[in-house]
Amino acid sequence: FDMFVLAFAERLFRPTFRKDDFVLGKKLGEGAFGVVCKASLANPEAAEKVKANGVMQGDVVVKKATEYGAVEIWMNERVRRACASSCADFLYGFRESKAKGKGAEEYWLIWRFEGEDTLYDLMQSKEFPYNVETKILGDVQDLPKGISRENKIIQTVMRQLLFALDGLHSTGIVHRDIKPQNVIFSEGSRTFKIIDLGAAADLRVGINYIPKEFLLDPRYAAPEQYIMSTQTPSAPSVPVATTLSPVLWQLNLPDRFDIYSLGLIFLQMFNRQLKRCDYDLVAWRNLVEPRANAELRRGFDIMDLDDGIGWELLTSMVRYKARQRISAKAALAHPYFNREGLLGLSVMQ
Ligand code: ADP
Ligand code: MG
Repeated sequence: FDMFVLAFAERLFRPTFRKDDFVLGKKLGEGAFGVVCKASLANPEAAEKVKANGVMQGDVVVKKATEYGAVEIWMNERVRRACASSCADFLYGFRESKAKGKGAEEYWLIWRFEGEDTLYDLMQSKEFPYNVETKILGDVQDLPKGISRENKIIQTVMRQLLFALDGLHSTGIVHRDIKPQNVIFSEGSRTFKIIDLGAAADLRVGINYIPKEFLLDPRYAAPEQYIMSTQTPSAPSVPVATTLSPVLWQLNLPDRFDIYSLGLIFLQMFNRQLKRCDYDLVAWRNLVEPRANAELRRGFDIMDLDDGIGWELLTSMVRYKARQRISAKAALAHPYFNREGLLGLSVMQ
């Protein structure tokens, strides 16, 4: 297992952290398997170590997790090496023995504090999606507020999310808990990044552990319950390699589980437009699609390429059968993302 050796060596030469390096601040989240807090660095040495980990300054995020944190550390280390830009910057993970008599160990995970807003927070605002446009571009466009500008913003968000997801999937990781609460806006890179690998599976080495008590979020979970073998290993103290092969990836297309969730987010981002159409999906569709939009159709008569194209992408993501869903990579190449080029409206990248 060269991979393990490499991973170990890489970690060995990175500065290590301990609990005392951090001053815990505001609580950001709390689940059944841990608590997440914003934290500052306790002393100049800790600040130096953070720098050596590639983060120049600022606060960090600390997750104190139960024994399942071991798997989450593994996933974050993989991402750090293979597709760092897909997820929040991971600094370090370590085990912390709890005080005597308090039971099992605790795992600490440290990330760069990427920013205040998750996609969930941004979607809650009545400014959505214009609040996202401001974040991504730093200023606003000249285009008047309206359907076509909103669509462009949502298209940009979708491109960023598919890009991040493609990174994870190409690495062999399925996230399994894609939802707006697990997407953070990184103020540094001005892009959306995926967070919370607590339910993720690494298919290359077969690390696939979801504790029995973990329920997939019914608001975003695809209809198939199991994405791989239904025999999950028992809680590992260190991540265990089982015998699942990449062949399973081919057979079950487990990555399509995330695609379904992302498809639901795609639809959800149009919720406000939908409301304006009294929740009439067909009316909304006619509104979003350029066919019903003279302004967008101008000069576009010869090749009616983009007719129904966003709708087509949506329906190819939200399908009952995983096998029939589009992959993240194929979705990125979908004509939906060429639209602005064809229409000469390439304002946002
Ligand atoms: P949980 O298991 O509680 O869902 P998450 O990893 O999703 O843990 O983190 C909980 C919340 O903490 C997120 O919804 C987000 O608001 C915040 N958060 C997590 N990681 C970061 C980060 N790197 N930067 C900023 N905020 C973060
Ligand atoms: Mg979460």
